[in-house]
Amino acid sequence: QAKDDGRNTLRFFDPQMQSTITARAELEKELNQAIKHQQFQLYYQVQMDSSDYPLGAEALIRWIHPERGLIPPLNFIPLAEKNGTILAIGQWVLNSACAQLKVWQQNALTRYLTLSVNVSAKQFHQTDFVSQVIMIIQQHNINPARLKLELTESLLLGDIEDTVAKMNTLAEIGIQFSLDDFGTGYSSLQYLKRLPLYQLKIDKSFVDTLVTDNNDQAIVRTIIAMAHSLGLSVIAEGVETKEQQQRLLTKGCTHYQGYLFGKPVPIEEFEASLKKAN
Ligand code: C2E
Ligand code: MG
Ligand code: MG
Ligand code: MG
Repeated sequence: QAKDDGRNTLRFFDPQMQSTITARAELEKELNQAIKHQQFQLYYQVQMDSSDYPLGAEALIRWIHPERGLIPPLNFIPLAEKNGTILAIGQWVLNSACAQLKVWQQNALTRYLTLSVNVSAKQFHQTDFVSQVIMIIQQHNINPARLKLELTESLLLGDIEDTVAKMNTLAEIGIQFSLDDFGTGYSSLQYLKRLPLYQLKIDKSFVDTLVTDNNDQAIVRTIIAMAHSLGLSVIAEGVETKEQQQRLLTKGCTHYQGYLFGKPVPIEEFEASLKKAN
């Protein structure tokens, strides 16, 4: 009897929830076709040095859906992580980014630019991730020193030996690693010390409240000091105001990214804004 009740509760029907599930299933089905139908696009957001000089960009994926319009990554990357499409998407992103780097490297005005690419956990932990990256670099014949891979702290948890080995192999050919959303995860200093990192990327959440929150000021100062003592470069993400930039500058931050300098935009727009800056 009790068991029957249990079964009955499973039949409880929430139309709201049902439509969410249906919408997600629909999106998932379309996600599987999106590469084939060329619906992904990379947007580029400029990264600056401390004298407001553009050093490069971060590549950020957008899904241009024929009916739904532009879908931001947070609405499909987690889904892609869950159903495994992230592997094909990740390859597409790397390949497109390297194709763009090749174009930049053939022009004297843009050959110095770096391009940062976000790498997801599943993608990084594939056994052949390193050879995939090397192959793409060779296919496009680009200078690996201009390619940056953004990893998150949570991605780095897990098989430490394997992570360090993969990063070392790629770092040896010149690829730089940036630790994204830094400060939101759990990396220990002991651990950080072992990774061949080039850069820490201060998470936007600390920059957001930098001007009003004394604790965040202390955290940011500590992150920057730590980065410098480990010999790492440091970039702040989500910089929206001059005041935030000023505070970061006085604490020793050397690189900046955020709406203050430019939103992520399609390649034509990005290159047009570069020309204006030069
Ligand atoms: P992220 O790597 O931390 O990228 C920074 C995010 O902050 C981007 O959001 C960017 O548009 C946004 N942002 C930058 N400056 C500002 C600012 O001043 N104000 C505000 N409000 N936002 C700012 P986006 O493009 O929506 O990407 C969100 C996340 O999706 C990324 O966070 C990254 O985790 C993921 N993602 C984006 N592209 C890719 C990709 O190609 N592959 C993978 N695996 N993940 C990606
Ligand atoms: Mg990033
Ligand atoms: Mg970030
Ligand atoms: Mg972030």
